[in-house]
Amino acid sequence: MSRAQLSEMLSVAEAIQIVREKTPVLPAEEVALDEALGRILAEDIIADSDLPPFDRAQMDGYAVRAEDVTDAPARLRIVGESSAGSGWHHTLAEGQAVRIMTGAPVPNGADSVQQVELTHELKDGTVVELLESVELGKSIVKRGSEITAGETVLTTGTQINPAMMATLASFGYAAVKAGKRPRVAVLATGSELVPVDQKPGQDQIRDSNNYSIAAYAQQTGAIYDRLPLTGDDTAVLKIQLAKAAERCDLLITSGGVSMGVYDFTKTALKELGAELFFERVALRPGKPIVFARLPNGCLVMGLPGNPVSVSVTFNLFARTALLAMQGATEPSLKHQTAVLAKTTKGSGDRESYLPAQLTTNDDGELIAFPLKWGGSSDFVAFAQTTALLIIPAGAMLEAGACVKVVRLP
Ligand code: AMP
Ligand code: MG
Repeated sequence: MSRAQLSEMLSVAEAIQIVREKTPVLPAEEVALDEALGRILAEDIIADSDLPPFDRAQMDGYAVRAEDVTDAPARLRIVGESSAGSGWHHTLAEGQAVRIMTGAPVPNGADSVQQVELTHELKDGTVVELLESVELGKSIVKRGSEITAGETVLTTGTQINPAMMATLASFGYAAVKAGKRPRVAVLATGSELVPVDQKPGQDQIRDSNNYSIAAYAQQTGAIYDRLPLTGDDTAVLKIQLAKAAERCDLLITSGGVSMGVYDFTKTALKELGAELFFERVALRPGKPIVFARLPNGCLVMGLPGNPVSVSVTFNLFARTALLAMQGATEPSLKHQTAVLAKTTKGSGDRESYLPAQLTTNDDGELIAFPLKWGGSSDFVAFAQTTALLIIPAGAMLEAGACVKVVRLP
């Protein structure tokens, strides 16, 4: 990328595209099912059996032949019992019924299950009276009606959620292939910073970015390492960056990337021989953001210092990189459309990503409420945010207008 392109402001979409292009996928590894939640599948998951694997009763009741009970009430002889895990493996003949439980296999010859509430047993349990006729096929889930053996049930690049754990378990995946968890190093810069367990002195503040960045990184499946707080000093910064780069896939810094006299992150990266892919994005909040690669291949995201800018830029760019490293098919936050609850003005020259909350109205429409906040340092207000409203540069969107949003994970 040329110098001219570097200093020019990229759009958010262009910057995300560059992140995706420059981020390598880490090798896959075998993961025990218990450890698989949140990981990205590196293999397609194939059903090793039909689902259900046999015709299955959906109710407690009696397995019967529908034609035997067309004239209800009708009496049938109970010839056996089929319970979950222990079926009745004979063939049902005319005039017969089998007592059956939910989840049990339906015997050959039976074509319907009548629920127990519409029956009663007579003569010491040898005869059952069905009070109503039964519809053919009632309360039976046919073998293979959900899935047939050999079908692909989950695809490579999918992030495993709790519901998918059931799918993996059902088809015998005691272990799955998943993208390796990226190693992230988190480094906060700023001479004003003190650790969380210290009372800030005059002109000092507690570091909070290290904690939000680590938490967001963890949410993507990454493993993090927190580096010591680093003051605004290029020499110290270079030492810390170089050390961290040796043992991580993505180094995430905060602070020191704007145009101030003490903003040394870019200088340190350049002196270490880093290749800078971009350093400014037409985004509010979060214009100064650096994406670079150090000579050993370690990628670097230099996020701005303001805590809200950190959250926005992490979710747009660092999250994309961390999920792309794990092979996710959709590493970036997805755009959705909502109805704007309040007229909202964007910034003159940059696309705005403003804090909002999403709700659904009685018609099922998604409604976006912009939140009141005091700017990019207002992390307390930002903690109530569930989504970001996307307002194009120079635009003013009226209440009731359609607005693009991204839901925060
Ligand atoms: P900078 O991008 O370094 O100019 O920082 C912008 C603002 O963010 C300043 O008010 C900093 O004090 C604040 N800031 C920078 N780093 C952190 C941090 N780790 N935790 C909380 N606030 C920070
Ligand atoms: Mg600073």
